[in-house]
Amino acid sequence: MNKDIATPVRTKDILKKYGFSFKKSLGQNFLIDTNILKRIVDHAHLTEESGAIEIGPGIGALTEQLAKSSKKVTAFEIDQRLLPILSDTLAPYDNVNIIHGDVLKADVKKVIEEEFTGFSDIMVVANLPYYVTTPIILKLLSENLPIRGIVCMLQKEVADRIAAKPGTKEYGSLSIAIQYYTEAETVMIVPKTVFMPQPNVDSAVIRLTKRVNPIVEVLDEEFFFIVTRASFAQRRKTILNNLTSQLPDGKTKKELIIAALEASEVDPSRRGETLSIAEFGRLSDALLPNFK
Ligand code: SAM
Repeated sequence: MNKDIATPVRTKDILKKYGFSFKKSLGQNFLIDTNILKRIVDHAHLTEESGAIEIGPGIGALTEQLAKSSKKVTAFEIDQRLLPILSDTLAPYDNVNIIHGDVLKADVKKVIEEEFTGFSDIMVVANLPYYVTTPIILKLLSENLPIRGIVCMLQKEVADRIAAKPGTKEYGSLSIAIQYYTEAETVMIVPKTVFMPQPNVDSAVIRLTKRVNPIVEVLDEEFFFIVTRASFAQRRKTILNNLTSQLPDGKTKKELIIAALEASEVDPSRRGETLSIAEFGRLSDALLPNFK
């Protein structure tokens, strides 16, 4: 059996063999530490029956560990130059399928139907390309895919915002968008030294576990997200002022906004960052009849 892909020596050998040069624009920072990879995979709680979906396998460092810990891995890779490398590095594993393409444009639901028929446990596990972390996570969560959750590496600063609780300076519309669908927790802080090349920012691994029961039932999801984004438009403004300036017709219908705040028991002088997700749910339902 070959040495693990994720060692500095083996990674350098593979890159040299194929004359591969990193594309910064594709967020290519490869992991070169097997221990870190094993710990990431452990946090996904996979079994021999699990299916794993990876975004951006690179030269296969994480894919290899997923192949050892699950029944099947399907990975989306945008960079065509990596395809021949992956067929070489992952040749020892017969349970891996690489799909060439941009995950943001892929029909992931269809891919899951085709690749994971009969699987009762599917996890997304990835060291995400940092330039598109948030769009990828939001796409995977909003498409109502049959997955248990996501374990992924991303910028520590984004992880802090995703997992933030009300009343903290990191809490905002991103925290709400993701915690609406999942329970979010930071499970690892990762030093820059385990990447090649090293990124400019600190990294963390988060686990997002899809909620079985929604944290809040809202009448209109799309409008709920409009209200949360509007409430954080200017962090130093009160919720009343943000909603008045951001909602369509808000300026002419200020009284209706005040009435909706009162009906949902939210003091108009509070700031968005102090509201719980449940309070945003009540507020969005109260605003809905007059603002959508
Ligand atoms: N998984 C590898 C590792 O941990 O060493 C590589 C991770 S690297 C941070 C991100 C990978 O995502 C790169 O291989 C990059 O080419 C790929 N990638 C970037 N944008 C992508 C997209 N929109 N869809 C699919 N893959 C993408």
